[in-house]
Amino acid sequence: MKLILLGPPGAGKGTQAKRLEDRYGIVQISTGDMLRAEVAAGTPVGREAKAVMEAGQLVSDDILVRMLASRLSQPDAANGFILDGFPRTVPQAQALDQMLAQKGLQLDAVVELKVDDAALTDRIAGRFTCRKCATGYHDTFKPTAVPGVCDACGSTEFFRRADDNRETVAARLDAYHRQTAPIIPHYARLGILRTVDGMADIDDVARQIDTVLSAVQA
Ligand code: ADP
Ligand code: ADP
Ligand code: ZN
Repeated sequence: MKLILLGPPGAGKGTQAKRLEDRYGIVQISTGDMLRAEVAAGTPVGREAKAVMEAGQLVSDDILVRMLASRLSQPDAANGFILDGFPRTVPQAQALDQMLAQKGLQLDAVVELKVDDAALTDRIAGRFTCRKCATGYHDTFKPTAVPGVCDACGSTEFFRRADDNRETVAARLDAYHRQTAPIIPHYARLGILRTVDGMADIDDVARQIDTVLSAVQA
């Protein structure tokens, strides 16, 4: 299974991708996570990306296309993958088409999570993540069962992203509407776009995704 999870910041892509990894035995490829790792490691790419990410803007297509091409050629992606956060621009979508065509691969589905802007601000403002296992949580919508302890791994260390604040969210939503949403018609034309109601609760969204994917599975 080869999927793209598409949707604005805070739509629930990471949350759903983690679940799909287990369900289908395929890897999540999150370009946001990859960039944050570069920033943390202080690599040249990370040094270039840091300020751009903190301003809520998009990192250059050049960097992203190179990063994704190298990730897709790793052996664990051969089984299938879930792209989370890529493509985010029309040139990225075109580059992905070429990469897949060269490998003789085709996407099975592009799952779009539709969520109103007003809800996204609350989701992003309450988001926190386990430092050890990367499980995602929310202060209100998905708290840990025991306060301060990760349900999945028992760790007590969490982090909040530098760009997850109300000021930066406006810029990120603007980037989504202006630069990312224009790729949606491309996948609609290919007949592989599946839109789900991302306003529903996490389990309901998961069920909707399972329903659309059961129809595309060979
Ligand atoms: P994305 O990867 O699209 O930016 P996340 O999966 O990180 O989004 O979700 C953003 C925040 O909203 C997280 O704190 C997550 O726990 C929470 N969340 C995810 N899906 C839902 C949902 N359907 N309803 C309410 N909160 C959600
Ligand atoms: P979100 O969970 O809010 O959708 P991500 O973790 O996917 O955010 O991305 C965080 C930031 O990393 C983006 O705001 C952007 O600056 C950068 N980024 C991630 N993926 C891409 C991409 N495909 N193209 C350009 N910039 C990207
Ligand atoms: Zn954990």
